[in-house]
Amino acid sequence: MISVFDLFKIGIGPSSSHTVGPMVAANLFLASLLEQAELTDVKGIEIELYGSLAATGKGHATDTAILLGLIGHAPSTIDTRLTSQYLAPIFSDKQLIVSGSHTIDFDTERDIHWYGDTVLPYHPNALTIRARLADDTHYQKTYYSVGGGFVISEENANNPDEDHAAPTIDVIPYPFNSAAELLEQCREHDLSISELVLANELHYRDQEEVFAYLDAIWESMQDCVTRGCQNSGILPGGLDVKRRAQALHLQLCAERNQPIAKSDKLAAMDWIDLYALAVNEENANGGNVVTAPTNGAAGIIPAVMHYYRDFLSSYSQDGARKFLLNATAIGSLIKQNASISGAEVGCQGEVGSACAMAASALAEILGGDPAKCLNAAEIGIEHNLGLTCDPVGGLVQVPCIERNAMGAVKAVNAARLACRGNGQHFVSFDKVVETMKQTGADMLDSYKETSRGGLAIYADNRIPTATQGVSVKYSQC
Ligand code: SF4
Repeated sequence: MISVFDLFKIGIGPSSSHTVGPMVAANLFLASLLEQAELTDVKGIEIELYGSLAATGKGHATDTAILLGLIGHAPSTIDTRLTSQYLAPIFSDKQLIVSGSHTIDFDTERDIHWYGDTVLPYHPNALTIRARLADDTHYQKTYYSVGGGFVISEENANNPDEDHAAPTIDVIPYPFNSAAELLEQCREHDLSISELVLANELHYRDQEEVFAYLDAIWESMQDCVTRGCQNSGILPGGLDVKRRAQALHLQLCAERNQPIAKSDKLAAMDWIDLYALAVNEENANGGNVVTAPTNGAAGIIPAVMHYYRDFLSSYSQDGARKFLLNATAIGSLIKQNASISGAEVGCQGEVGSACAMAASALAEILGGDPAKCLNAAEIGIEHNLGLTCDPVGGLVQVPCIERNAMGAVKAVNAARLACRGNGQHFVSFDKVVETMKQTGADMLDSYKETSRGGLAIYADNRIPTATQGVSVKYSQC
């Protein structure tokens, strides 16, 4: 089981795989480099981006994320209001201050290489960082950013036994590799999904630490919604996408006590839309968001949790913890058995996964037993199957922001639908996850975070160029 500490992380927008992961990779490279050499021996640094990281890296701020990581900033602690200030020496003086104290010449045109047509063997999101040392030798490492901010080094990719991202399952009290096993464990031990996940978490940390982390994640999500409702203007990147959350928030607040709003039985839906827009606009602006399980899909779980907080009388802090614990089980199963990476399986792996996680968690809040939760999660994925990843201009804005609002509303519907049943359903959660994985494998690369198909070219005002390109497979369709 992947821990709640790994699945939910406070990070930086706009993308967990293309921004958070590359920054983590730069942090790892720096630590590894400093084990091999003195900082003062570093004379130059080159960065190579491959596959999807190169194809959509400019829109996802992959290059600047790596540079910030090399300066010494980490996704969870960086003050995103000061990003331009941190990067100024690079863009104005062509100087990179490695680890915050050692200055080298660095020219983004000369030292960053974009290889969008080259995909390294393990995953479409790959990067290599190379340092030139005083004795004219080089030290280099390759990393894969596999979604949700998770990073695997080339050595670990070639030797999966050394992948320490997930704890070994045989030491936790209630191991599970599939939804069927999870359900069996819940039934045998008379546990809800959140209780089972908590018991597993307590194998590694004490309750105080786990609860403090869960509370911090929930608080960060609420701060993000608050900021998203306050900020307005145009999102960066050149598409001229206007932020909508602030105006919608003012509108909903003004209407709240009007008779028309009181008689509108679907008024909650407008608020769910608002919460999701607020988070994803913050994400698109490069602000702090919680990966849940990715940044592109970061609005769905907070939106449904805000719905729980603001519209259900049963809300409590403990309920918010249960929500995140339950969602962890679902995200863990999807990540282990399929993928949460848009570059690997399309948006079904991002928005579909977040929708399934939120649906299962809400089902538990609504009183659903584990079977109903898994039914809700299955519905959440089933009706996102085949969803492509085609961000216009490589930016996590269109269709991503609105798609989170759709995903959040769908999650509420999935939870309610499942709770009206008895937990039995035609397609099992395990089968739908397997189907998602296979659908992703069959999906053309042009629909997997390359910005070479779908809305990315047809809804883009700019005429597709040779480099923006249409893949051969795509044009044959
Ligand atoms: S389309 Fe979906 S998977 Fe692709 S960047 Fe947007 S939110 Fe992420």
